[in-house]
Amino acid sequence: MPEFTPDEYDDAVFPELRGVKPPQHDPLFADTDNFLDEEAAYWKERETEREAWRKQWPNHCRACGGWGLVGHVSIDPQDPGPEPCEAMPEDRCHRCSGELETKRIRIEGDFPRWEQVMVCTVCHWSFDDGEPQ
Ligand SMILES: [Zn+2]
Ligand SMILES: [Zn+2]
Repeated sequence: MPEFTPDEYDDAVFPELRGVKPPQHDPLFADTDNFLDEEAAYWKERETEREAWRKQWPNHCRACGGWGLVGHVSIDPQDPGPEPCEAMPEDRCHRCSGELETKRIRIEGDFPRWEQVMVCTVCHWSFDDGEPQ
């Protein structure tokens, strides 16, 4: 059994590849690089939005990020999903810590009706905004 160096072995088994250099940059990985750059840019943008939001609402509730709800929406029917955040007193806004008042609002559409909602007297928040996710 003759002994080969790895190069000699390649030459013997793949003679057509003799002298051919491997590509310097695999296109597959070039795509991945771009993808990672885009991904990083995306997350950086989200972080910038979050910082701007935090700056705008310095008194927001840290427990729920100003949403008034904790937990995530899940497709699992067994999952209770988001629940009211209890880190603030019931009559406080989770976005600016201002006072909430109960308002009756008219919902238009296919089933027009009146609904009671909690609205912030200071910033008009109503469980409809929070730190960008
Ligand atoms: Zn909260
Ligand atoms: Zn508020």
